[in-house]
Amino acid sequence: MNRVLVPLQLDSAAPALGAQLHQLDGQTMGTTWQLRWVATTHAATEAADGPVRAAVQAELDLVVQQMSTWLPGSDLDRFNRAPPDTWHTVPHAMAEVLQAALWLAEVSAGAFNPAAGALVNAWGFGPDPRYTDPGFVPPSADAARAALCRSDWRSLRWDRERQQLWQPGDVLLDFSAIAKGYAVDRVSRRLVAMGLPHHLVEVGGELRGAGMRMDGLPWWVDLEQPPTDPHQAPLPTTRVALHGLSVATSGDYRRVYTHGGERRAHTIDPRTGWPVAHGLASVSVLHADCVWADAWSTALTVLGLAEGVALARAHRIAALFVQREADGRLTETPTPAMVELA
Ligand code: AMP
Ligand code: MG
Repeated sequence: MNRVLVPLQLDSAAPALGAQLHQLDGQTMGTTWQLRWVATTHAATEAADGPVRAAVQAELDLVVQQMSTWLPGSDLDRFNRAPPDTWHTVPHAMAEVLQAALWLAEVSAGAFNPAAGALVNAWGFGPDPRYTDPGFVPPSADAARAALCRSDWRSLRWDRERQQLWQPGDVLLDFSAIAKGYAVDRVSRRLVAMGLPHHLVEVGGELRGAGMRMDGLPWWVDLEQPPTDPHQAPLPTTRVALHGLSVATSGDYRRVYTHGGERRAHTIDPRTGWPVAHGLASVSVLHADCVWADAWSTALTVLGLAEGVALARAHRIAALFVQREADGRLTETPTPAMVELA
């Protein structure tokens, strides 16, 4: 291990004597969730953990019901299928995510784009067609351009007072780059409300740690790393104390295919309509809120190393960029806010 990151403020009391470690896991959003927490209240049995499982599943199900691209009839799906020139009432959780997403779309000049569903689908990363389907062919330049025309987040109109969103026609929302992080925050907040302040929540690799472990130490987590070429020296490990802190990683090595010798990864540059191809292997972001860690890691992945580091610096975002060099080596660039945690 070569780098250890600890948040600048440590504020919580250690768990009481006699506390026990509890663990639960399950499935959601096409991936897995995991929860560890420390509490004195009950023996760590499945029966005693039942109310916690129910609470976690309720939070995750709410996010899916409102924001899934994959669940026919979700609020997001109904918006996507709505006729042109219609207003739609957006439920509270979806509105929170929409507002965060629109803010980041503005700040990143469209690198982050919650209305990129048509592009995501065209490149085979939505529900249909899937790049893994037999006979799947990536879009032609014309088809990519047509999908780009349907991916203008500025064509949406958001009426904050009335919590209503305007469907201009054929615009497909996709919250996959932000909803998992939001779900992690909801679970974490729900646990605190249930009197369980010491926990580590994970949904599909996005994490939030709060309070402490049983031994009074913070929840230590190693940042996810892209796979290294066996001929290259491994990257240093970065271990983070998730104490009131979240981490999310976007990478070009998950959900990727090769076409005509070119990598096509699942992060699309909505400014060009093409999958990003500037050699960033991954971006990890640390943030108090997992919703922001998740959204920023995707935004910075789209921007690439130079633009991404500049925007992250301007917003004091703690990020670690891993660049795949021409010779296959991986090199790391931490932002100043990340260095401050070391
Ligand atoms: P993440 O793993 O959090 O980086 O999210 C990646 C997912 O977000 C993709 O599978 C797409 O569904 C969606 N996506 C792809 N490109 C963008 C983009 N530029 N802005 C917002 N969401 C995107
Ligand atoms: Mg993301």
